[in-house]
Amino acid sequence: MKSSLLLLFLFSLYTLPLFSQGKNEVHYTEDILLGKSEAQLYNDTLPLAIPAAKAFIKMYKAAKKEGILLEIVSGYRSYERQKSIWNRKYKANEAAGLSPSENIKKIIEYSTLPGTSRHHWGTDVDLIDGSKTKEGDVLVAEKFHGNGPYVRMKSWMDQNANRFGFFLPYTNDSLRPGFYYEPWHYSYAPLSIPLLQSYLKMDLNKVLITDGLEGRASLTPVFVKEYFEKNILGIDGRLK
Ligand SMILES: [Zn+2]
Repeated sequence: MKSSLLLLFLFSLYTLPLFSQGKNEVHYTEDILLGKSEAQLYNDTLPLAIPAAKAFIKMYKAAKKEGILLEIVSGYRSYERQKSIWNRKYKANEAAGLSPSENIKKIIEYSTLPGTSRHHWGTDVDLIDGSKTKEGDVLVAEKFHGNGPYVRMKSWMDQNANRFGFFLPYTNDSLRPGFYYEPWHYSYAPLSIPLLQSYLKMDLNKVLITDGLEGRASLTPVFVKEYFEKNILGIDGRLK
């Protein structure tokens, strides 16, 4: 009797999140999903949504005990900021002679279309080890491997990030489509999963192609569909 009650208790603990999922489903506004609202952020020095910021602080303290200083290179990024990054890259590639389709293909190796960055949600961060001397570009995959400066941080994050809720969306998996491998980019799953669920309900053809966006003539419905399937959904399965 006692053990069956215990089993029932364990079973209900296990299934509780499944049953309550529908009830607790959160709907985010388009402004939040597209990076047009900063209202939910913790503060200027920790530009993350409040629950993600609190989890980050715990992870930061744990890493610091091991001599690793988790430094945020990029946290929340607004739609306007992403748009200016996109337009700058587009113009530079155009000046270098790339056709519109080559241009966009090149940009989306690492950068997103404005309105589609996970950084818009305040749940994702680009991290390096701030205890190491910075030389040139820091967000370079080689620096997280071999004799690179961020190898210790990467190994610590590999072991510990998940228990604080942080996961790599853009894993080093040759079968994963979309954006290239980004060993620096972490996502706070407890928030970014429901945000993605809300995000998937939007009509991207309506919200993405806006005035003043370079290359917008090439952003056809066919392109948007492929971008959605490969780039937006081309992430570690634990974040979906
Ligand atoms: Zn990033």
